[in-house]
Amino acid sequence: MYVYADNAATTSLSPRALEAMLPYFTEIYGNASSLHTPGQKAAEALQKARETVAKAINADFKEIYFTGGGSEADNQAIISGAMAGARKGKKHIISTAFEHHAVLHTLKKLEQQGFEVTLLDVHENGVVTPEDVAAAIREDTALVTIVFVNNEIGTIQPIAQIGAICRERGVLFHTDAVQAVGHVPVDVRALNVDMLSMAAHKFHGPKGVGALYARKGVPLVNVIEGGQQERGKRAGTENIPGVVGMAVAIQEATENLQADMEYVTGLREKLIAGLSKIPHSRLNGDRQQRAPGTVNFCFEGIEGEGLLLWLDAKGVAASSGSACTSGSLDPSHVLLALGLPHEIAHGSLRLSLDAHNTEAEVDHILKVVPQVVDYLRDMSPVWDELERGVTPHLI
Ligand SMILES: *Cc1c(COP(=O)(O)O)cnc(C)c1O
Repeated sequence: MYVYADNAATTSLSPRALEAMLPYFTEIYGNASSLHTPGQKAAEALQKARETVAKAINADFKEIYFTGGGSEADNQAIISGAMAGARKGKKHIISTAFEHHAVLHTLKKLEQQGFEVTLLDVHENGVVTPEDVAAAIREDTALVTIVFVNNEIGTIQPIAQIGAICRERGVLFHTDAVQAVGHVPVDVRALNVDMLSMAAHKFHGPKGVGALYARKGVPLVNVIEGGQQERGKRAGTENIPGVVGMAVAIQEATENLQADMEYVTGLREKLIAGLSKIPHSRLNGDRQQRAPGTVNFCFEGIEGEGLLLWLDAKGVAASSGSACTSGSLDPSHVLLALGLPHEIAHGSLRLSLDAHNTEAEVDHILKVVPQVVDYLRDMSPVWDELERGVTPHLI
């Protein structure tokens, strides 16, 4: 048995989405900007996809801008918020230390251009409180940007409450909802957000396509210059197969949301209960306030890379934190933001399930992970020192 438990990195393409996309590669291949019939057929598909994506998050279709994925949507939202603030002399931005790199690196760049960035500390349970945000807002704050569901540990942030505070204080608010859309309810009105990012491939849509929701009146700045596509805010010939697939996937995900959430939460609870039995293990992030499928554990005495390779060999695809950073030996910035010491932040395992996973697969994971942890600990000099009491256990 081989279990794919890395749905936070990417998901399989929904068969219905694939089927809907195929004609747009072969028969209906016109450019949506062309005035002829093939072009107009593409334009119709684009409009329909825009309406479907908008409806899924309770937005107006005019508030949806298709992008080349989640990273691009994050870049555009943050740069737009920063520029809108700068025009009024406001150059302060608030975010958190455990954002995705698409957010953190964009903020770094803005810092080099004279913006001041406050990265809020995250509490030990992996949640930022509305009070933390309220206390950090200043007269010159242009933008608050906070991840909805953290991609490494799966904790859910109180977006609606943070949004209410930002609105009251007249500050633009963006949320990176790439791990949220299709997995938890997302209603842009109820959430009080001005901008929201999403990526199709995180909810069984195709890769390389995403969207930025920007509330009417929020001034967007282009990050890709060129033609007048996307109401002049994102140039480039539209990815019609991509947006068609994204629309089908978001519709499927939202139609089945409640049932899927219950089912996946059940799998997750079983996984947490089983993995918690491993001695000197630790669940990272709040026990309850988390996305249905994402679980992140630390196992003392072993490092993440070896664990992942052995799990792969034993039939479990997992990840240590974000796919973008595993492969480097740096400890996870997310786990460090939670206040975990370096020794522990190296040894994390992320398992992300979704509605395609089965109970038998969870059983397989629960059989394999303890075996691999035992095996690696037997060979680990660090574990040996912990067991002999040379160094104290931290977990
Ligand atoms: C995956 C992810 C992104 C990046 O999305 P891409 O479509 O890969 O560019 C951004 N933020 C979060 C929270 C993510 O999980």
